[in-house]
Amino acid sequence: MNLVLMGLPGAGKGTQAEKIVEKYGIPHISTGDMFRAAMKEGTELGLQAKAFMDEGALVPDEVTIGIVRERLSKGDCEKGFLLDGFPRTVPQAEALESMLKELNKKIDYVLNIEVDQSILMERLTGRRICKNCGATYHLVFNPPSREGLCDRCGSELYQRADDNAETVQNRLDVNIKQSKPLLDYYSEKGYLRNIDGQREISAVFADIEDLLGGLNE
Ligand SMILES: [Zn+2]
Repeated sequence: MNLVLMGLPGAGKGTQAEKIVEKYGIPHISTGDMFRAAMKEGTELGLQAKAFMDEGALVPDEVTIGIVRERLSKGDCEKGFLLDGFPRTVPQAEALESMLKELNKKIDYVLNIEVDQSILMERLTGRRICKNCGATYHLVFNPPSREGLCDRCGSELYQRADDNAETVQNRLDVNIKQSKPLLDYYSEKGYLRNIDGQREISAVFADIEDLLGGLNE
C-alpha cells in the first residue's frame, strides 16, 4: 500500500493521515519528520541538509530526494508507506517514480483531499486566542460561549496575524499554484483519487477505506 497524500492547508490531511496509519500499519512519512530523523542519525545526507538549513537556504532537490530514498528503503516500508509533503514538484515526482522502480515498488494511489476554498478560509481563519491565558478557540469548531471573550478567564480573544484572511488567502494561492502541475501529472499517470473532504472526518475516512480496501483483494 504505497500512498501519497495531498490536500491544501485546512483540508484535514493530518487527521486522515493519522487514521490511515492507525488502521493499515504503514509509516506516515512527512518531509519534516524525515529531515529531522536524518539529521539526528547524522547520515551524510542529513548533515548536508542541515548545512543548507543552518544557512537558511532551501535544501536542494538531490539532497531531499536522497533522504526520501534512504527512508523508503527502510524495513518498515515493506508493507507500504504514506508520503506527506513530498513530492512537491513534478521533477520530485519523477525522481520518486524512478527511485520506486529501483526499489521494485510503485505508487498505488495519490489521495487528494478536496475542500472548497471558501470552507478552507473559514477553517483557517477561525482560530481565536485568549490575550490573558492563551486558551484557544475556533469560531466554527470550538466557539467561546460569549462572543470574543474567554470562557476560562473572561479576557478578550484575538486573532493571530498568521490567521488573518489576507495571509491565509496568500498561503492558499501559493499552495494551489504549486500543487496544480503535480495533480495534473498524477492524473495523467492514473494514480490520482480525489476524496471529498467537505464532510465529517469519519465519512471522509470511510471513502478512503473503500478505496484502499480494494488494494488487498
Ligand atoms: Zn483566558
